[in-house]
Amino acid sequence: MTDVWHHAQEQFFAVADRLKLSPAIKAFLSEPEVVHNFTVPFTMDDGSTRIVSGIRAQHSFARGPAKGGIRFHPGVTIEEVKALSMWMTWKCAVVNVPYGGSKGGMIIDYKALTRREQERATRAYARRLLPYIGPDLDIPAPDVNTGPREMAWICDEYSHYVGHPEPAVITGKPVEYGGSLGRTDATGRGVAFAVQRYFEIKGEPLERKRVVIHGFGNVGQWAARVLSKMGAIIVAVSDSAGGIHAEEGLNVEAAIEHKESTGRVSGFAGTEMSNEELLELECDILVPAALEGAIHAKNARKVGAKLIAEGANGPTTPEADAILEKRGIALIPDVLANAGGVTVSYFEWVQNRQRMYWTIHDVHQRLRDIMRGATDDVCRIANEEKVNWRVAAYLLGVERVAAAVRMTRADF
Ligand code: NAD
Repeated sequence: MTDVWHHAQEQFFAVADRLKLSPAIKAFLSEPEVVHNFTVPFTMDDGSTRIVSGIRAQHSFARGPAKGGIRFHPGVTIEEVKALSMWMTWKCAVVNVPYGGSKGGMIIDYKALTRREQERATRAYARRLLPYIGPDLDIPAPDVNTGPREMAWICDEYSHYVGHPEPAVITGKPVEYGGSLGRTDATGRGVAFAVQRYFEIKGEPLERKRVVIHGFGNVGQWAARVLSKMGAIIVAVSDSAGGIHAEEGLNVEAAIEHKESTGRVSGFAGTEMSNEELLELECDILVPAALEGAIHAKNARKVGAKLIAEGANGPTTPEADAILEKRGIALIPDVLANAGGVTVSYFEWVQNRQRMYWTIHDVHQRLRDIMRGATDDVCRIANEEKVNWRVAAYLLGVERVAAAVRMTRADF
């Protein structure tokens, strides 16, 4: 059992005990309902055949069709995919979208393939998946190394399989091909809505709060953009090559332009610093938006933020969590903070099924309502149960899933 799956199960068992779930429900939810493991053969440009491994874990169908991304990476493992599928179940339940959780992966150095090889690999993976996905069964989405282009290829394969166009089988599609407006910025925007609500509840203004963004990619850039529009000051940002810091605040749009043209944030403005130094900066809000495990036992004692809003999935290790809590550092957990992405994916699916498309204003407004409502729910449970926000979010998510299971399985 690798660490990440062990971590996901331990987290679940702790919450299940607290909720006093029956042994049957606890056992049922502690494993994915289904795990598909298959070979994916495809043709390379030189005519040779490559065979790689593909996985799809469907953790839960209790609240609706399963929902979760697809990652193409050499480091993918079954245990990682299982853990991510379980986290998707809780995340969908926290924001109360009518889905269970799933995740898919292909063990492949995808970036090393040519564009034509990428298309053949993605379509071959999709063909293996076809019997197990569908608008009422399991709805994939992008994750590491996959984006709108891959979603379009998979949707095309599925549409040929069922014999008619079926955009609702997958989300994160290009807007020209059934995607929703506002999907690209949804996760970062959702982080900003959760942070805004957190300060409203605290009775403190968000204006002039100092923000550090660790990982200036899609999520980090959009969180920075929206938080700065809300009046916060972005004092530092970083990517894998290092960070920059300017106490008076960075011009976010110009920093994004610089990152797009040079591929990195360094050299834009302010003082250059390492990622470790950036995490230690004194600030009001830290948004980890890079990788899993960025805040760990060794650096958690030095984190300089008062609030951490987890844009990334699993950026804080369990050891770091305990240290941060002891130090009184507040945290908005990933299953709440970054749920804006799956929320707008849900909007995309609804629009595809209705064959009626919403304005960007509608998407933003509904996303805002859902993120604020979920933040209020988590805060209420944290106060009632006297637990931190991570435990509160899990209590909310797991109890919603368990309640759905109880409705259909009297013997549980
Ligand atoms: P991305 O690839 O666009 O951006 C990641 C950024 O992190 C890049 O700028 C990269 O340079 C930087 N980075 C990588 N290693 C780093 C390091 N060691 N230190 C500092 N920066 C580093 O990815 P993204 O879509 O923004 O996703 C970021 C995180 O958010 C991931 O954990 C992802 O699973 C999670 N997430 C994304 C979405 C979404 O809709 N994109 C939704 C939910 C969760």
